[in-house]
Amino acid sequence: MASQSVVVSIRGLTKHFGATKAADSIDLDIYSGEFITLLGPSGSGKTTVLRMIAGFERPDAGTVTIDNTDVTNLPPYERDVNTVFQDYALFPNMTVLANIEYGLKVKKVAKDERRARALEALAAVQLAGFEERKPSQLSGGQRQRVALARALVNRPKVLLLDEPLGALDLKLREQMQLELKTLQRELGITFIFVTHDQEEAMTMSDRIAVFNAGRIEQLDSPEVIYQKPATKFVTEFVGQTNQIKLDGKSIRVRPEHMTVGSKKTSGSNSISGKLFDIIFAGAISRYVVKTDDGQTIVATNSNSQIKPGETAVVSWAPEKEFRA
Ligand code: ATP
Repeated sequence: MASQSVVVSIRGLTKHFGATKAADSIDLDIYSGEFITLLGPSGSGKTTVLRMIAGFERPDAGTVTIDNTDVTNLPPYERDVNTVFQDYALFPNMTVLANIEYGLKVKKVAKDERRARALEALAAVQLAGFEERKPSQLSGGQRQRVALARALVNRPKVLLLDEPLGALDLKLREQMQLELKTLQRELGITFIFVTHDQEEAMTMSDRIAVFNAGRIEQLDSPEVIYQKPATKFVTEFVGQTNQIKLDGKSIRVRPEHMTVGSKKTSGSNSISGKLFDIIFAGAISRYVVKTDDGQTIVATNSNSQIKPGETAVVSWAPEKEFRA
């Protein structure tokens, strides 16, 4: 688990592209050994912040400190970080082993040590035995692991990952999420991970920074972000929510906190209508209710054998209402 020493510190980090504020005076402390995710919709500034930490982008204002050294004006290769990108960027004509050794070769690490470290990195990503393959002879997930090994071989303090699983199909993506998380724990490297996928962020992170329009709206554990979203934006971006107008107020309630039945459950708030549809989604079913005043609500619990077309009451505990 993360210790409390700060390894990356960002202060007032700002970047404009013309009229677009990609990063708007961001402050963030990242702890040694933690898995932190920058989560947000497309264009919210996650990649720009990551690139400024890596040194690929110069900030207009603000500082980046890595391990107590101000690196704001240092080039990428003088920072103790490595980046893994979504598109892997492997050399197609080199073997897996040569791809992984490449960075060490450039740094003039001796051949024996180079080989030993590359084999160790390959084992860490569970690809021992794949040394002589070319990238074209690997699956997408295996290529992603080679890209990861190529970064790990440098033993960086901090690994930056920009949507590294974005190109994988859902099944492989979920498998790699767990593998990456396990590897991060075992190696104790700080991971700064960028994604727009909130489930991925929930699954993997110690902390999540939710980005919106170049700013961090909330920074906390996945549990707190989900259970106690700080702003309307976070409520809507993370998880599913129903927005309901009731007695002149606007409230938001998650589907899993709502129950459909033929009558209101006691102590609950409720709204009535008709059951429109039941959508089977494997582990859960979604009950779609059209309220008498024309709103659509989705609930994932039911306490009676209600059928589409029948009168339905949706109930929820008052404390489950978000008012942010
Ligand atoms: P995505 O999930 O789509 O990668 P993001 O949250 O990573 O999005 P950024 O790539 O950081 O977002 O972009 C933030 C804003 O800055 C966007 O409006 C984007 O169009 C703009 N931007 C980023 N890079 C440049 C650039 N080199 N030139 C001009 N505008 C840019």
